Amino acid sequence: MPGHVERVLVTGGCGFVGSHLCERLLDAGAAVVAVDNFATSAPDNVAQLLGRRGFELVQHDITEPLPALGAFDVVFHLASAASPPDYLRLPIETLRAGSLGTAHCLDLAERNGARFVLASTSEVYGDPAVHPQPEQYWGHVNPIGPRSVYDEAKRYAEALTMAFRRERGVRTGIARIFNTYGPRMRTDDGRMVPTFIAQALSNAPLTVAGSGEQTRSLCYVDDTVRGLTALAASEHPGPVNIGNPDEVSVRRLAVEIRDAVGATSTVRYVDGAVDDPQRRCPDISLARRELGWQPTVDRAEGLRRTIEWFAARSPGARREATA
Ligand code: NAD
Ligand code: UDP
Repeated sequence: MPGHVERVLVTGGCGFVGSHLCERLLDAGAAVVAVDNFATSAPDNVAQLLGRRGFELVQHDITEPLPALGAFDVVFHLASAASPPDYLRLPIETLRAGSLGTAHCLDLAERNGARFVLASTSEVYGDPAVHPQPEQYWGHVNPIGPRSVYDEAKRYAEALTMAFRRERGVRTGIARIFNTYGPRMRTDDGRMVPTFIAQALSNAPLTVAGSGEQTRSLCYVDDTVRGLTALAASEHPGPVNIGNPDEVSVRRLAVEIRDAVGATSTVRYVDGAVDDPQRRCPDISLARRELGWQPTVDRAEGLRRTIEWFAARSPGARREATA
């Protein structure tokens, strides 16, 4: 429709990924409503968006029915704790965000005839027995272990999304996001990238959990967000893996971060996490083929940008700025 400004709802819009997504959508000319209860983030993340035309921030817990917010063309559901220490601290809230929260977002998408995009996760594959992980793999999840509050919430969210697609004709899409990093992660969120950067910036020991031989594949946030918007713009149902297949061991990553910071930190081995996935790497053939999407920022460049952002906000930098 000529002159129509796309209206987009982003739940979890103040979070790490959500704030970058809101920014990209505004840059593309959309009107954006971010819904967040600040369970794992602070409004600071969207401070620079608050004055922008077309942006609105609504404080609301997505496990409660949404207030009247007008009509939407697209609904992105990102609201959920995502860092292991966060979801282990908020187990019931995490299950409720994945279940009730997803139901409220799907109801809204159905009422509006909107495109719905679920931010699912590589954690639906659990500790995978297949490597790299294609979307056809059903996963290997401990349904009652501590991580299950997150893994099973997302698996339920995927099931509910598919049921709304089949039974109600909602135009749904499921993105399985793999480890994403970049500016605006919380220094204390406990995930490996911000933890190692904060430790390296203060020359503290790098806390590598378990043997450090376990792997992850890191995707820079701009690439992940571009994958999410590409999925929204398509009619593909997914699930589709959004991640960077550049696999690295946790120990090697710690050393790379230390060297990029120029720190003298030692490596300190700490207890491994329960049910920690040992190898994780996305097969992104489907995203390449169906969405024309692939990551473009390599790890060295992504880490450089991320370290620069954290360094500018580190206590040392603040002392220098006020000296
Ligand atoms: P984050 O913790 O920075 O952001 C999540 C946001 O959701 C926060 O702002 C939080 O306050 C909000 N939120 C949580 N519960 C809520 C509720 N009940 N009502 C309203 N808001 C609520 O995490 P993130 O890394 O930005 O992750 C965003 C989404 O992407 C999550 O759904 C996560 O599962 C998914 N994901 C992220 C990654 C990653 O590596 N960052 C990987 C896979 C999947
Ligand atoms: N990890 C680590 N030291 C830390 C934080 C995490 O060695 O200070 C490990 C963690 O045990 C896991 C990997 O790094 O094996 C990735 O953890 P993260 O929390 O970043 O993401 P996820 O486990 O959700 O993939």
